[in-house]
Amino acid sequence: MATIIDGKAVSQSVKDGVAKQVAELKEKKITVTLAVIIVGDDPASRVYVNNKKKACETTGIVSREYALPADTSEEQLLELIDRLNNDADVNGILCQLPLPAGLDEKAVIAAISPDKDVDAFSAVNTGHIMTGDYTFLPCTPAGITEMLDYYNIDVSGKHCVIIGRSNIVGKPMAMLLLQRNGTVTVCHSRTQNLEQITRQADVLVAAVGRANFVTADMVKDGAVVIDVGINRNADGRLCGDVDFEAVEKKASFITPVPGGVGPMTIATLMKNTVTAAKKQNGIL
Ligand code: NDP
Repeated sequence: MATIIDGKAVSQSVKDGVAKQVAELKEKKITVTLAVIIVGDDPASRVYVNNKKKACETTGIVSREYALPADTSEEQLLELIDRLNNDADVNGILCQLPLPAGLDEKAVIAAISPDKDVDAFSAVNTGHIMTGDYTFLPCTPAGITEMLDYYNIDVSGKHCVIIGRSNIVGKPMAMLLLQRNGTVTVCHSRTQNLEQITRQADVLVAAVGRANFVTADMVKDGAVVIDVGINRNADGRLCGDVDFEAVEKKASFITPVPGGVGPMTIATLMKNTVTAAKKQNGIL
């Protein structure tokens, strides 16, 4: 039976560290502030934004919400971002994705100042990840490496297989595992013989977005299995990409959904925001 990686506990330890730094900055008269932009009324986005605001409250970070109607024009959104870029009281800016149709996500991400891009989605911050010379890391992959560290899981020399190649999860995850000397394979929808590849994985990261996509026969005995997916199963219950009950019996470590990667993503966002505040105030 696998050890279940407790994302809630690891994220709490990260948030405790953030809260301490936020309090220290307060003594220096620096109020760490995150601007959160949400456009439209997508229910999932609202849940994510509320969870991020809650994490701000528990760490002492001030969150400023900018809730814009779905018919907001790109010009209006870019104007707001420009204002926040130039507001010295705002340390981090996040724009919850996806945006309503008609708004160009790439243009919006590019408009956020790289110094305040606490999601690390911009081309500038993505480029820094390639060179290994970064201030912020994208929250989900960085949260995963934090969990690996907490459980003393060393990926050096190990075959790490990632299913999914998105800009926010799969690709940066590959870079971070490579920096840790993993031997990395990235799979996607055109990958042939996927099961043969996943069965070789010492570390398997699933970021597909399909319930029960990773079944026990795709997993090597003793593998570390990280489930990034957030899906609803046929009963409407929250679940990941991995058939947890079956895979738990084969893996050495496994993350649950909920309570695995999700809380780490938010904790890393808090960490990035305090890092941004320090950097902007010449403390880093
Ligand atoms: P995307 O939809 O952007 O990417 C999904 C990836 O899965 C793509 O690269 C796609 O391949 C690949 N894929 C789809 N079908 C197959 C298949 N049959 N075989 C192999 N690969 C396949 O999703 P994201 O990366 O944004 O998110 C993935 C999941 O993680 C979602 O459930 C999302 O909700 C969740 N998520 C969770 C977070 C958390 O904090 N826990 C944070 C971010 C995301 P191709 O590129 O060829 O289309």
